[in-house]
Amino acid sequence: MKPIPFNKPFIIGRELSYIADAVAQGHLSGDGSYTKLCHRWFEEKLGVRRALLSHSCTAALEMAAILCDIQPGDEVILPSYTFVSTANAFALRGGVPVFVDIRPDTLNIDEGLIEAAITSKTRAIAPVHYAGVPCEMDVIMDIAQRHRLLVVEDAAQALLSTYKGRALGSIGHFGCLSFHETKNIISGEGGALLINDERFVKRAEIIREKGTNRSQFFRGEVDKYTWVDIGSSYLPSELVSAFLYAQLEHADKITAKRCHICTAYASQLAPLQLSGKLHLPTFDSDSNGHMFYIILDSLATRTRLIAHLKAQDILPVFHYVPLHSSPAGRKYGRIGSTMAVTDDLSERLLRLPLHYEMSNEDIVRISTAIHDFFIHS
Ligand SMILES: *Cc1c(COP(=O)(O)O)cnc(C)c1O
Repeated sequence: MKPIPFNKPFIIGRELSYIADAVAQGHLSGDGSYTKLCHRWFEEKLGVRRALLSHSCTAALEMAAILCDIQPGDEVILPSYTFVSTANAFALRGGVPVFVDIRPDTLNIDEGLIEAAITSKTRAIAPVHYAGVPCEMDVIMDIAQRHRLLVVEDAAQALLSTYKGRALGSIGHFGCLSFHETKNIISGEGGALLINDERFVKRAEIIREKGTNRSQFFRGEVDKYTWVDIGSSYLPSELVSAFLYAQLEHADKITAKRCHICTAYASQLAPLQLSGKLHLPTFDSDSNGHMFYIILDSLATRTRLIAHLKAQDILPVFHYVPLHSSPAGRKYGRIGSTMAVTDDLSERLLRLPLHYEMSNEDIVRISTAIHDFFIHS
């Protein structure tokens, strides 16, 4: 049978013709017409003050860490159950990631544990919207305001998810998006920094342009451009932006398809939840169908189910090794709460294949294989 990969990059519209057009326009470095179209799309669609494309969400997080002015020894509170970049961006500035446990229902940072992890060195909170499901942003923003902390939303998985009607990435001081080929909307590698607080816009442009005031120069605001701050080269080429813009034109369609796949999985697998074989995530209409995972009863069951599915050319994958137990997490970070939920669920979670070109037959085949596993085990 045809293998069902976990992920598959796809083309949905004018990606290749826009790339050809960018070449024809003769501007292949950053901030050409396609990058500007993408910026405007994010600013209008998500309601953010300023959007700046970057090479990756990792790069956007690094820019956010510079904008937060993280100094050696400053602490940043984040979940342990996340991708390395959420922590690494702050560690690169000499900051100390302080890991907090997650909620068992959403696998997002447990907002009820944040305040106890705050010290006089805390500067920021970096909530991660796991699987595109929103964190409790009202509570997090309230804590941040009372303790004068900045909030960097890691919205890598959360483009077009909302929290109480507001786009994820538009609520904290900063939001960071990813267009890596495993995310909903893709450009191979790619990301964006969303800036929601006017105070940071000018400096963000400078940091992204190697620490120069080049953006102001091109807008005619200064008469020469020069080195004014620290920074790096964070802007993507027009080739990447052209590809991305073609995807953005179909963003709602892509999101709807992924949500449809999640709903189909949930209904196929519901009987197994009823009989107590596995646990399914709860997701509402406010999330973007980024991921479909199941929670098994043990690591041993997960290992056996992976083997069972692989034998049928179906490729599921588990997810993060919690950062607090990783070699670099131990070296650069510290634990800010108990880790019971993180330690437990990270061993039992399994992500099922989910990509734009999956068919209903694929979902039925995967679900049937999972049902078979439990009948015979
Ligand atoms: C994918 C991801 C990132 C990194 O995104 P890149 O664009 O690959 O740098 C960061 N955080 C989370 C939660 C992610 O899922």
